[in-house]
Amino acid sequence: MSLSIYNTLSRKKEPFEPVTPGKIGIYLCGPTVYKPSHVGHAVGPIIFDAIKRYLVYLGYEVTWVVNITDVDDKLIIEAANQNTSTFELAERITKDYLDAMALLHVDGIDLMPKASEHMQDIVSIIERLAKKDIAYESDGDVYFDVSKDEGYGKLSNRRIEDQEGQRDLKSGDKRNPGDFALWKAAKPDEPDEVKFDSPWGQGRPGWHIECSAMAMRYLGDTFDIHGGGLDLVFPHHENEIAQSECCTGKPFANYWMHNGLTRFNTKKIAKSDADPEMQKALIRMTLHNLLVEHSPELIRFLILSTQYRSPIEYSDAELASKRKGIDTFYRLFERVERLCGSSPYGAAGQIGNPPLNDKKWAGPALESDDLRKACDDQLDAFTQAMNEDFNTGVAIAGLFELAGTINRTIEQGKLESAGSEEDKQCVLTAAGRLICISRLLGLFLDPIEKKSAGDDGVADKAMDVLIKIRQHLRKEKKDFETADMIRDLLADSKITLEDRADGTLWRAE
Ligand SMILES: [Zn+2]
Repeated sequence: MSLSIYNTLSRKKEPFEPVTPGKIGIYLCGPTVYKPSHVGHAVGPIIFDAIKRYLVYLGYEVTWVVNITDVDDKLIIEAANQNTSTFELAERITKDYLDAMALLHVDGIDLMPKASEHMQDIVSIIERLAKKDIAYESDGDVYFDVSKDEGYGKLSNRRIEDQEGQRDLKSGDKRNPGDFALWKAAKPDEPDEVKFDSPWGQGRPGWHIECSAMAMRYLGDTFDIHGGGLDLVFPHHENEIAQSECCTGKPFANYWMHNGLTRFNTKKIAKSDADPEMQKALIRMTLHNLLVEHSPELIRFLILSTQYRSPIEYSDAELASKRKGIDTFYRLFERVERLCGSSPYGAAGQIGNPPLNDKKWAGPALESDDLRKACDDQLDAFTQAMNEDFNTGVAIAGLFELAGTINRTIEQGKLESAGSEEDKQCVLTAAGRLICISRLLGLFLDPIEKKSAGDDGVADKAMDVLIKIRQHLRKEKKDFETADMIRDLLADSKITLEDRADGTLWRAE
């Protein structure tokens, strides 16, 4: 079965055909770098990072561009509030964003162009539009005349007449109420660093034209996939299409993919805007703070557990439930390591080298017919789910199934007490294959960390002491209350103890 993608433009799933065989260009609208990113800003990058990994697995050569909007009204206002330059603010927030992306293993972005470095591209598109009388100047501002574009509204399914209600918003000398700014004349009180030269005097570009210019610069006039959040369909993406297609006379992006938005379901968030509690909750959810509190892998797992077009429920309960889910895999990997004496992470190789869809497992052959079939079947199910408009939710459900099969094989074969070396090797290879498939989503890339980075094993030593005290309390003193208290206090700090016949294991999220 071949890949199909839901295209917002046609409002249906379409078979995927790249512009150039074997190659795919993807443009995803990136952040406006004026305040720290929150969890919503991670959704698009995580989804498209998984999509890119999968497309590379299918054998495509993928170029993925995410822009940085560093010229924008919001940036000018925020820099003034903070008594700094827009340049300094943009640099600082961009760094914050990139740090978060690195922690989340969003590794696949090829280019991150900045709007401020593409003024020539922007101006030349506006000049071409002006030559066709589709763009017009008014007091140093330049507008796009929506009435000149027959296709205007095709993405968001709006007609120009629907915007007649905005007539009272008409300002300056716009020809139509729905006309949007391509270029904004500089205002006297604005800082010099946001004043760029143009044939219409000093000013700065509108947000929409920045994306058109950077997408076409790096991916060509017509490219494959344009992505972004559902909230960008109108006006941002509608206007990107209008100005790009009117400029070149060619289709802009062939497939428009829009991810669902994050729904914040914490009680605190449900309150009003002015509520200081909500402000605090929002600060808590900046990506930076989130990644201090939770493992990046958990955030990635949460976001990929739903098909990308559905809204993402974000709440403490949802996080707790996903933590339980991801623990299922961690427990299995630890169990296999204990059983086999080596880590399944080490047994995981790369799969999916070209040619397309060639089923290729790295590492040793799997001698168990049942496990081999289970792995092959799950890779098929995974491929099918991803080919159906990148259904990562169904793909992850399949990973749980394979984990269950491996666990059952260990239990039914009583491998922990009486398994042969061959049986154990089969389980190790199967767990390695499970990791292989998961890595196509960017999951389980690194072995679970049992201690914080840079603590020189102090955490390990301290935990050994705590575990010994707790064992003493349980076995010698029969003081189960205090022993349980230790376990519960550790759980509050997201450290899990697992009592087993051969001792107690610990794991920090
Ligand atoms: Zn954009």
